[in-house]
Amino acid sequence: MITGTTRLLGIIGDPVAHSLSPVMHNAGFAALGLDMAYVPLHVAADDIPAALNGLVALGFRGANVTVPHKGAVLPFMDWLHDDARLVQAVNTIVVDDHHLHGYNTDIEGVRYALAQACGDTLVGQPALIVGAGGAARAVALALARMSMPLTIVNRTASTAQRLVDLIQTAAPAVPCRSLPWADLTAATTAGQRLIVNATTLGMEGAGKVPAELVDTLTAGHVVFDVVYGHAETEFLRRARRSGAETVDGLAMLLGQAASAFELWTGQRAPLEAMRRVLVR
Ligand code: NAP
Repeated sequence: MITGTTRLLGIIGDPVAHSLSPVMHNAGFAALGLDMAYVPLHVAADDIPAALNGLVALGFRGANVTVPHKGAVLPFMDWLHDDARLVQAVNTIVVDDHHLHGYNTDIEGVRYALAQACGDTLVGQPALIVGAGGAARAVALALARMSMPLTIVNRTASTAQRLVDLIQTAAPAVPCRSLPWADLTAATTAGQRLIVNATTLGMEGAGKVPAELVDTLTAGHVVFDVVYGHAETEFLRRARRSGAETVDGLAMLLGQAASAFELWTGQRAPLEAMRRVLVR
């Protein structure tokens, strides 16, 4: 029930209609009886400054930021959490006393998803990350904090190298290298415990994860797809058929949302209520 005192939150993206965040956060507010409501906010790139000013002017408590604006909002933050600065991406904004505070809770989302599926068994194990964009940077930092030696493969080699540089600065003790896209072969995946698709491949309307990678998956792999949709992704379905253990992008979505919820409300997120609305 929206009342005269309801605090508003929202998600800024383009597109945004597909987002599961409104249903998830509203379920969380309802479970705790909080007088808060969360709405989709379709914002074009040119309107980012006005939209952020609008959050303050309209008394919003905060917002999530999604594709493609996570980097674009960064310069408009009055304060940045170190993790958001490191990965150069803000996915959660808290409005405090007319100031915009930028966080990145995707890193916690990755940690949460892997811990739920595998406990601490991945700590120190080698990982291959395919992709080097915003999601991949959050994945790489989360894995580096689990002391996992990293191999990064991205279509654009220079972006992969920038991510290697980021990890070497943030976690100098963790081995981290990049390989060219042509090296997505059995020889590269054979030595890996975890394989992550952190590209947009597999999203509706995007291309497919390359067959060269899919065909190398085995029962010895844990396969994590950051992409999520209304059904299991084809990449995860194929991984499961190969005997690999799979980790769904929805678990990361829940983990990052729980962390954002706690920043906005100061209360522990009601995970069960929020997970229930994500069940396919
Ligand atoms: P992004 O910053 O735009 O990065 C896109 C990545 O995909 C880049 O590495 C890009 O490579 C690669 N890519 C795009 N098209 C490709 C193609 N045709 N062939 C090979 N590589 C291609 O996007 P993002 O923010 O990282 O988002 C990536 C995905 O993660 C999206 O599906 C998003 O919804 C998802 N995500 C999920 C969660 C969650 O909670 N589960 C959280 C955040 C993001 P280049 O560098 O060569 O362009």
